[in-house]
Amino acid sequence: MNFTQVFDMLNLGLVILDKDLHIQYWNNWMATHSGLVKENLIGRNLLDAFPNLDNPIFARSIKSVLTFGNYYFFSQKLHGYLFPMKTSGTFKGEFQMMQQSCTAYPIREDNKRISHICITVQDVTEIARYEKALIEMNLRDGLTGAYNRRFLTMRLAEEFERHRRYSRSLSLLMLDLDYFKKINDAYGHQCGDYILKDVCDTISSILRKVDLLIRYGGEEFCCLLPETDLNAALKLAERIRQSIAEKDFLYNDDKIHITVSIGVHEFRGDIDSSDTLLRKADEGLYKAKKAGRNKVFSV
Ligand code: GH3
Ligand code: MG
Ligand code: MG
Repeated sequence: MNFTQVFDMLNLGLVILDKDLHIQYWNNWMATHSGLVKENLIGRNLLDAFPNLDNPIFARSIKSVLTFGNYYFFSQKLHGYLFPMKTSGTFKGEFQMMQQSCTAYPIREDNKRISHICITVQDVTEIARYEKALIEMNLRDGLTGAYNRRFLTMRLAEEFERHRRYSRSLSLLMLDLDYFKKINDAYGHQCGDYILKDVCDTISSILRKVDLLIRYGGEEFCCLLPETDLNAALKLAERIRQSIAEKDFLYNDDKIHITVSIGVHEFRGDIDSSDTLLRKADEGLYKAKKAGRNKVFSV
């Protein structure tokens, strides 16, 4: 009875190598997903067939299996994949390559000397995709899709550190919609929600790819602008202010006009923490409100 036929039924990749990493076995799953048939692979050196594995981390892992008889786990989070295989169907776009969790095991001859290595390959693309979506959801606001405050706290701390170490410029805008309560009172809360989303789209269309839009509170937003000095930040804030003021927000048959007040601040020597940056931008916003709203101010 040849039990190796069972290997070809598994919904799992299975590769067996000798001590010199020559491929001894390549199951059907590996052939189907890689497009490489076993006839062309058996006897070939793994590193010739898959040059991406010719790296110190893989070499060390294999050595630990061969020398010490350890099991070695290649986590998807660290490696993404070992064997490059294109993803198919619904997962296209999310990940170009199938995400894999792999484990290398020692195979012993007569239960003693290690003579071969077995590597199993599990397709975890779907799990990785859900994980990625969950992490994203946890950092975004449900209504507008802008980042949430949790994200701002995390990123500000990182950016503050980057600024401190490398003296990169960084600015922050704090925006608050003017008399927004009146919009809700006049047109209803649903209309208010619709405008909040539309305002976010308008701001996003003006920001660069590296800039980050955050919903700070109800009708308050922040823009974190890396590599941007005060002058550039003031100009950008003015463009946002103007675009919102000039826009016709269409809801049902109503053409609604709103304005926004903006406080601007740049990370500088006077700022000792990310909280201070937020406070300074907020002071600018307060000034803009006091000066009559629909204005841009820095302190
Ligand atoms: P100003 O900022 O110019 O001083 O006036 P305001 O009317 O905008 O300020 P206030 O802070 O008094 O009111 C904010 C309003 O924003 C109150 C609340 O009804 C509205 N708001 C906050 N979050 C949401 C939301 O998620 N959806 C809707 N529709 N309205 C919201
Ligand atoms: Mg407010
Ligand atoms: Mg307001």
